[in-house]
Amino acid sequence: MEPTSSLRARLDTIAGNLWWCWHPEVGDIFRDLDPDLWRGMNHNPVAFLRRIDDQKLAERTRAHALESRILAAARRLDEYLQSHDTWGARYGGTLVTQPVAYFSAEFGLHESLPLYSGGLGVLAGDHLKSASDLGIPIVGVGLFYVLGYFTQRLDPNGWQREEFGATDLRDLPIQPATDAVGRPVRIEVYFGARPVTAAVWKVRVGRAQLLLLDTDVPENPPELRDITHRLYWGDQTSRIRQEIVLGIGGVRALKALGIEPGVFHLNEGHSAFALLEAVREEMDQNGRSFEEASHRIGSRSVFTTHTPVPAGHDRFPPALMEEQLGWMRQALGLTTEQFMGLGRVKPEQVDETFCMTVIALKVAHRANGVSSLHGDVSRKMWNGLWPYRRVQQVPIGHITNGVHTRSWIAPEMMNILERHLGPDWARRISRSDLWLKTMEVSPLEIWETHQILKAQLVDFVRRRYVEQELRRGTDRELALSRASRLLDPMALTLGFARRFATYKRATLMFRDRERFIRMISNPARPVQVVFAGKSHPRDEGGKRLIQEIAHLQHEEPFLGRIVFIEDYDINVGRHLTRGVDVWVNNPRRPEEACGTSGMKAVLNGALNCSILDGWWAEAYDGRNGFAIRAPGPHEDAELQDRRDAQGLFEVLEKEVVPLFYAQDAARVPAGWVDRMRWAFVTMAWRYSADRMVMDYARETYLPAAFGDSCRMSGH
Ligand SMILES: *Cc1c(COP(=O)(O)O)cnc(C)c1O
Repeated sequence: MEPTSSLRARLDTIAGNLWWCWHPEVGDIFRDLDPDLWRGMNHNPVAFLRRIDDQKLAERTRAHALESRILAAARRLDEYLQSHDTWGARYGGTLVTQPVAYFSAEFGLHESLPLYSGGLGVLAGDHLKSASDLGIPIVGVGLFYVLGYFTQRLDPNGWQREEFGATDLRDLPIQPATDAVGRPVRIEVYFGARPVTAAVWKVRVGRAQLLLLDTDVPENPPELRDITHRLYWGDQTSRIRQEIVLGIGGVRALKALGIEPGVFHLNEGHSAFALLEAVREEMDQNGRSFEEASHRIGSRSVFTTHTPVPAGHDRFPPALMEEQLGWMRQALGLTTEQFMGLGRVKPEQVDETFCMTVIALKVAHRANGVSSLHGDVSRKMWNGLWPYRRVQQVPIGHITNGVHTRSWIAPEMMNILERHLGPDWARRISRSDLWLKTMEVSPLEIWETHQILKAQLVDFVRRRYVEQELRRGTDRELALSRASRLLDPMALTLGFARRFATYKRATLMFRDRERFIRMISNPARPVQVVFAGKSHPRDEGGKRLIQEIAHLQHEEPFLGRIVFIEDYDINVGRHLTRGVDVWVNNPRRPEEACGTSGMKAVLNGALNCSILDGWWAEAYDGRNGFAIRAPGPHEDAELQDRRDAQGLFEVLEKEVVPLFYAQDAARVPAGWVDRMRWAFVTMAWRYSADRMVMDYARETYLPAAFGDSCRMSGH
């Protein structure tokens, strides 16, 4: 047996790289060392290792024969990091020395690292993970939110409360980023005339790294230290300051670390000030004019827009821009009007605010939406920037989002796949021929695996329900007895989890209360629904929707048939997308840019039932899930909602419920399982983050790195 200190050193190495979180057999080592502590630490191996003592570590390793698993995991991580046999090594060209710098205000990598609020962040996390797997050199750039987004709790009245708990930095998989001589890097930016310093943290994500800027350092006055404390919080001044740190500070951090990016990729407009700093540097170093420098930086830049709703784009008024960024304007040699013009659709329109999306679209030579439909919507929305072009010629393309397969697929499903698709399946995730083999998996095997995952979900929901009720002061006996009657493992289970933005219409099902009640309480074919989701702290409308569900779940006839799980995060998302039968999505078309949670459902055999919006508009083929027939946008939102609710019930009553309950003697629904398998075949590869990152590499990163200044075309 290895000495405990040496086992601990190996475990520390594993915990220090997020690679472990998409290798469930590695995470299981921590669980097997101490299941209660593992759960208590929210699956955070760094925090876990600080709390398990040597004696327990040695005892449990012996008792559970974990030593060989620990050694094997450490060796596999090492092999992963050393391997040069990757897609990126073959096709990555100059990116090897000049990596992609990927800027994002959020990164959702794991539930223990609270740097995300929702889909945008999870997408950025999945992007880094796939780039790592593919060997495409990439450096993420973001902010370090020590207080994160928020923990959602419902008060006894069902009203959302936001709680913040400080994280102990020693419990996180972060280290100070250091310069060539080993000193922690500090960078400086300005908020107007005031200098502000930021520390830079480094997170290892497989072969990739993520840099996080943090203004909570002793050099700063107290009122500037908390600028990066929380995600999407505070007024416009805090917001622009965060974006100055992210964009300008981000470019400075890369430079301080000696990283010369070949490509700047801006994931949404929050980081668009990075372009200003890159242009300023280019002017400064190579003596170029603003126009020349801007053209050069633009040819190396990629911008991804995510927001089909005009109000969703960051905008800053002229006075605030001048107050906070006058120094940058001067350094670029621009007048106020020239500077403001960069962020305006019509530069001469003095009452137009400075829009982060507009500057990104103007400077970056490559821009894209995140689904085919969203590409169309974006071209229409920004036609004003190219007034002499027809909509189809607006230079905004699309690359549809995907999810990181190994982060979202349940280990039980992964086992089936490994047997049928071959042991090296994970290297061929984005190949369509690979997934054809899922048609060979027997219906019984798939269905049994799904039943196991569903039972795990029921367990999870009951456990979380008890915790919620106890926090709200419900008597323990009562909470336990209610929990035991919560959800029937044999009943058709729908899942709805997402941000409670009003356009996502979480309560659409309740529009026709009578019809909903009839559907869920049919004794022969019962239906139940699990909900989860956070509302933005200032979104009263979203909070009212949560409250409505929170109330109904305690009332007959909904009791036990609908349940709201607090604090939707990556962990809750993982459980829900693995265990439900149907993943419901009913946004107001066309306001969902893409959506990714339904792709996670596909990987676990849950069938999508969705409005033909975002990714589903291009993915649905009549057999790989269900479509909610909705006539489309209507000026009267009320009317659109009522019609869409009818469409939802039509498909549920006529297609979903009958197909699910058409079960044979072994209780296997053959028609249903056929759709599950067909969903794998048609979508698992296409909506993988591997496919997405390869698309970015081929269509944007490589051309940008080679200095090809052509703009991306609409189609
Ligand atoms: C996947 C995911 C999302 C994005 O889901 P949508 O389909 O875009 O709503 C949001 N939050 C969490 C925690 C997720 O895991």
